[in-house]
Amino acid sequence: MLRVLFLASGAVLLASQSVFAAVEVKTERTSGSLFEFQSIPLPALDDAGSTAKIVVISGQSDGKGKGTQALNDGEFPSYSDHPASNFFFSEGSNQNRILFDLGKATRVKNVVSYSWHSDERAPQVYALYAAKGDEADFNAKPSPDTNLEEAGWALVAKVDTSPGLGQRGGQHAALISDAEGNLGVYRYLLFDVSKSVADNPFGETFFSEIDVIDADAPEPKRIDRPDPVLITFTDKSQTYKFTIDATLAPDLKDWSKEKLQPVVMEWYPRIVELLNSEGFYPPQKVTLRYQNEMGDKPAWAEGPNIALNIGWYRDQLQHEALGAAVHELVHVAQLYPITRRNDPAKPEWIVEGIPDYVRWYLYEPQSQGAELTSHSLPEARYDGSYRVTANFLEWASRTYDKDLIQKLNTSVREGKYSTKFWKATTGLTEEELNKAWIDHHRARLIQN
Ligand SMILES: [Zn+2]
Repeated sequence: MLRVLFLASGAVLLASQSVFAAVEVKTERTSGSLFEFQSIPLPALDDAGSTAKIVVISGQSDGKGKGTQALNDGEFPSYSDHPASNFFFSEGSNQNRILFDLGKATRVKNVVSYSWHSDERAPQVYALYAAKGDEADFNAKPSPDTNLEEAGWALVAKVDTSPGLGQRGGQHAALISDAEGNLGVYRYLLFDVSKSVADNPFGETFFSEIDVIDADAPEPKRIDRPDPVLITFTDKSQTYKFTIDATLAPDLKDWSKEKLQPVVMEWYPRIVELLNSEGFYPPQKVTLRYQNEMGDKPAWAEGPNIALNIGWYRDQLQHEALGAAVHELVHVAQLYPITRRNDPAKPEWIVEGIPDYVRWYLYEPQSQGAELTSHSLPEARYDGSYRVTANFLEWASRTYDKDLIQKLNTSVREGKYSTKFWKATTGLTEEELNKAWIDHHRARLIQN
């Protein structure tokens, strides 16, 4: 980044303003909320870019995208990962270059580029070149192997919005400006675009909009910030209040209303009832929120707040989406004390085993999702967590004590759990139970 240099005495070193052009690139990213960049404004509707002629002069535009018109249509995608609302280069496309022809020489105040993806296609990496069109040897459509500087183009800025690993997703914006509000007088802008993530086949940025702000025009109109997308409801007895926040994934609103809402309404009160204990006050306000950047985790719960992984949910609507939500509702109702990691009074395999028991044996027993097979049995142990433990718990409660789940949950909730629980409840130690449980399955599998 080059800046005008000031001497300590206060005298300005005016070594040719053009050489020390104070071009600044500001990048921002927002992943938790919509369009809430700290200082970069929302996309403009009637900027100089909105009437520009935009062409791909090198590389291939991906046919699944909207093409170059996405870049100046004044529309921002209504949700992340939406190819049809974006411009992006196709996989394997090289020397990717986009040309903006503003129609006439324009004093450019700044250039702002916007992108949106839940993961690797969000970051923007490009170099911006510009020309007035009257430069010596100027070539408005340089071939891929042309050296741009030799064809009359001046490098204005290099942009890279890539943040730290694991934080790629969300809305990215890059603002190219200078202190004087005048990047220069240009008719042509050339974006020399690199992959968002090197060597990744899905590393072509989803560009949503590129604004070119004319320094001599009035302030442009901006798109409206979208309203939050909230679904609120209660259970039948009106004891519990629920909110599903689909602001970051409005495409999931209808499904949430039609499929997820009835499951939450019915199952949260049932789970609370199943896991009831003396002096237990279940959370009465529960929020389920679609979120970005959850890695490969489908969902998680923190207190009464459940986070649902947008990308995973879009993929799993017909499969595991509802079951995973039931699992998280159990976490909300467990209301276990917050303790240090590996607390023996709160073993991880019980924390995850009870939600999977509720999910696989009460909510969707027909799926037989926690069944042990001759393939999985040799590796199975009671403390295998998730569905393996769910299977163990179902067998133990059916064989020894129909209230075992509720008792087990209460002991962890009250901080009283220890391995003595098993002997006290079933007459056997956990290792003896493990053997009996495995023997039961071995006998069952041999029979079949
Ligand atoms: Zn869990």
